[in-house]
Amino acid sequence: ATLYVQMLIDPVDRIVSILDELQLGAASLSRLLGVAQVPDDREVSGREPSSEKLDAEDVRFSYVEGRDVLHGIDLDVGVGERIAMVGPSGAGKSTLGRLLAGIHPPRTGAVTVGDVALVELPLGDLRGHVALVTQEHHVFVGTLRENVVLARPGSSDDAVRAALGAVDALEWVDLLPAGLDTVVGSGGRAVTAAQAQQIALARLVLADPHTLVLDEATSLIDPRAARHLERSLAAVLEGRTVIAIAHRLFSAHDADRVAVVEDGVISEFGSHDDLVAAGGSYAALWESWHGASTVVE
Ligand code: ATP
Repeated sequence: ATLYVQMLIDPVDRIVSILDELQLGAASLSRLLGVAQVPDDREVSGREPSSEKLDAEDVRFSYVEGRDVLHGIDLDVGVGERIAMVGPSGAGKSTLGRLLAGIHPPRTGAVTVGDVALVELPLGDLRGHVALVTQEHHVFVGTLRENVVLARPGSSDDAVRAALGAVDALEWVDLLPAGLDTVVGSGGRAVTAAQAQQIALARLVLADPHTLVLDEATSLIDPRAARHLERSLAAVLEGRTVIAIAHRLFSAHDADRVAVVEDGVISEFGSHDDLVAAGGSYAALWESWHGASTVVE
């Protein structure tokens, strides 16, 4: 058990100490890695998930004691399924996304992968099952190599290059005189928001999670770069289960199923067509977003 715990702590410790030196600290690290809990908070059971099926069961959560923002969420996500989460601002979509990725533990209820609660999985294993993608805190001060291998310490340069290649980043990485040794982040070589996003995506390719939770907010990136990034992102999503938080109804139409989050509950759940036909909140959201001129098949 000691070795086990050591395996969990060591890589994180090392990174924390690097970041401390750089005056970033553990909070930034947590966001960078999508890791919010210190290892000893976890109740690691040693059970292996029997599948990659992700379920939320009666999940409740509060940031402030006594004030739940999620009020009993049930959600079954099939392997390989694409789910879009939509709903009004402040409804709890990002919060639910963080719970589905195991970043916050539920107050009650459980998020499970293959019937094992995410809080029972060692952190090092958790990221192989589910990871969160956001557009915040993508790059820390360090070499390009260090920025990517964070996901899997000890990876070879070939693996790092393959990950960067998978997200179309080699076309600019190969032009850097120092290549993977290039120092990026504040004080280092400036990277664009889109390049920072590619670094984060390469990190994900290396981590290779079965399920991705995307909390999209493309405001940081200009439209041309965003289109380019869509290709990189598509390569990362390929073959994975995806839960996309569509703050602006962006990808809801293409999803297998849409979950409407309102006031901390899932108020509607079904295919785009079914929800439009049902004429409820989603239909109204879709209508207001797309305008009256939109033809809905
Ligand atoms: P948006 O579409 O605007 O991003 P959302 O549906 O993703 O909204 P959340 O960000 O999950 O909603 O917020 C749900 C509720 O939780 C809101 O009332 C919000 O103010 C609150 N909240 C979110 N993050 C925190 C936090 N770190 N501490 C305290 N309250 C929070």
